[in-house]
Amino acid sequence: MDLSENDLKNFQSQLLKLKVDLLKAGETGQQAEEVVELDQTRVGRLSRMDAMQAQAMSLETGRRRRKHIVEIDAALERIRAGDYGDCIECGEIINPKRLAANPAATLCIGCAEAQA
Ligand SMILES: [Zn+2]
Repeated sequence: MDLSENDLKNFQSQLLKLKVDLLKAGETGQQAEEVVELDQTRVGRLSRMDAMQAQAMSLETGRRRRKHIVEIDAALERIRAGDYGDCIECGEIINPKRLAANPAATLCIGCAEAQA
């Protein structure tokens, strides 16, 4: 691992901030999901379909958000374990620029492209 103590601290605080933002967004999203639920009892068929579509989108957003939180937790765990910044596939060092763009990245650019 080529990241300095300082780099690691930076990534760790970025990850923690991201996680807090996601958890906050999650609370708002859950409220939106509940609102749709209530509306379905009193709206007509057409707007009911709109509401269902909105709910599906909101569920999909929630699913992605939870996945992202899991990735962030895994990254934080790797910082603690001292494995952070290594590709989980080939063990090569992940480009710090890549980590700056997505601190939860687990793959080097080569492996990420191979999986895409
Ligand atoms: Zn790799």
